[in-house]
Amino acid sequence: MARELRLILGDQLNARHSWYRQVDPDVLYVMAELRQETDYVVHHVQKVLAFFAAMRKFSQALKTAGHQVLYLTLDDTQDWPDLLQGLAQLCATHKITSLRYQAPDEYRLDQMLSRLPGLLDAEVFMDDTEHFLTSRDAWQNYPNNRMEFFYRALRRHYRVLLDEAGQPLGGRWNFDQENRHKLPAKQPLPSPLLFDEDVTELHDQLQRHAIQTLGQVDPKHLIWPLTRKDAKRLFQFFLEHCLADFGRYQDAMTDRGWSLFHSRLSFCLNTKMLHPLEIIQTTENYWKTHQEQISLAQVEGFIRQILGWREYVRALYWEKMPGYAEMNELAATRPLPEFYWHGKTHMACMAQAIQQSLEHAYAHHIQRLMLTGNFALLTGIHPDQVDAWYLGIYIDAIEWVELPNTRGMSQFADGGWIASKPYAASANYIHKMSDHCAGCHYDHKRKTGQGSCPFNSLYWHFLHRHRDQFCKNPRLALTYANWNKFSTSEQEAILATAETYLQQLDQL
Ligand code: FAD
Ligand code: SF4
Repeated sequence: MARELRLILGDQLNARHSWYRQVDPDVLYVMAELRQETDYVVHHVQKVLAFFAAMRKFSQALKTAGHQVLYLTLDDTQDWPDLLQGLAQLCATHKITSLRYQAPDEYRLDQMLSRLPGLLDAEVFMDDTEHFLTSRDAWQNYPNNRMEFFYRALRRHYRVLLDEAGQPLGGRWNFDQENRHKLPAKQPLPSPLLFDEDVTELHDQLQRHAIQTLGQVDPKHLIWPLTRKDAKRLFQFFLEHCLADFGRYQDAMTDRGWSLFHSRLSFCLNTKMLHPLEIIQTTENYWKTHQEQISLAQVEGFIRQILGWREYVRALYWEKMPGYAEMNELAATRPLPEFYWHGKTHMACMAQAIQQSLEHAYAHHIQRLMLTGNFALLTGIHPDQVDAWYLGIYIDAIEWVELPNTRGMSQFADGGWIASKPYAASANYIHKMSDHCAGCHYDHKRKTGQGSCPFNSLYWHFLHRHRDQFCKNPRLALTYANWNKFSTSEQEAILATAETYLQQLDQL
């Protein structure tokens, strides 16, 4: 009879964790599909399927390796009031004397599991997930609090893209200048590597339990990698087919495809099937042997996302929670427009970003930030509603990474902890970085009247109504100077167009 219970959460599929180094007959691993996890927000159906299917495969792999695993499906846990009481029952049934769990990444679960010692007779221990490159309190260790300095310190610490003298390869830390081009019309795009998992039985189970979901799926052909082996295949595909153009077209948006040169590794990373350092080091080594095809700018741009942004937003999350989830610096109050849930809008750029999100549970960073996020920012949508949408719809959405990106970076609801100015943009930017405007119902060049691009008047309306907050921000000085160059009648016409659009958001 096992004496120790070890709880594995759905985003803790780290096969290389030290827990699994030895098979121990005294240890019982427990994995559970739970209503509390399917119901805390409405998730994309592919997200629920991918998490549960990956958990099932992970438990099977542990069993095959000789570990004792108790895997509980939704059928098995349907009478559990919640995770804590379910664990208490299991501890009693199995006469457990100690319970271990890995540090949850979400504040919600961290708080919940911290109540375990008071509930159980067993001793309770929390172990590290052995996944991240910084500790939860990393924010305190990097006093400058800006991503760039955080990232440089981590590059030094992990000796990534450095020369013998400890200086950045290529003489610079940042190659953004070389990157971020629009996609040329004739630029071929790689066909994304898609997996083909039959999850029909699981899908039936979700339906039997009446789990509410959003988005589309063909359950016979789930496209996401569910095992470490397939996650590694996706990574290898990225190295061979996408890395050479990653940074160059990182910010490009197009009607021609849905993932361009992006890696789509966020699900594999956030479930911990892949470790960030293995991705970073393998990418650097791959580049070293393929320098004729791949420039340093591409590799640096990719590594920055994982070593820099990913660790940075996590540090911010743990520093600022729980208050962060309540912040609403710009006092935004409007409800999320209906078209976020079905993608039927005349705005071609928004239609593309939303429809592909519903179809694939995926949009790349600039679609999230400069289309759906930008539109919500300009129109003053309540950040709770924006958060619920992002937390539900994306395959990679887990609160520790979703919240700082959404509430902070895209909505400026944190007052500038992540972004030194709001990521607000007009059609000018969208036209520059995409091919969407050519086929759009709206005219990207016009700022006023019916048929003018909503992003234009809404952009100026946003800046005008938040003038007190932003006019002293040096990064916006030129923008306000441009606004001041419009005549009073031009300003009035722009603001009137924006007001009209704000009254009819659902019809845009
Ligand atoms: P790539 O472009 O290939 O980048 C490689 C990896 O870098 C990603 O897999 C991811 O792990 C990491 N990364 C890149 N940018 C960021 C970032 N800003 N923050 C943290 N990690 C980053 N990412 C999530 O993982 N989960 C979320 O719920 C999430 N919500 C977001 C919400 C908004 C409003 C915005 C603007 C961004 C959000 N991001 C989120 C960050 C980013 O958009 C996704 O990580 C990325 O689009 C995932 O696609 P990819 O794997 O192809 O990324
Ligand atoms: Fe988007 Fe405006 Fe361009 Fe249409 S015209 S695609 S709404 S930016």
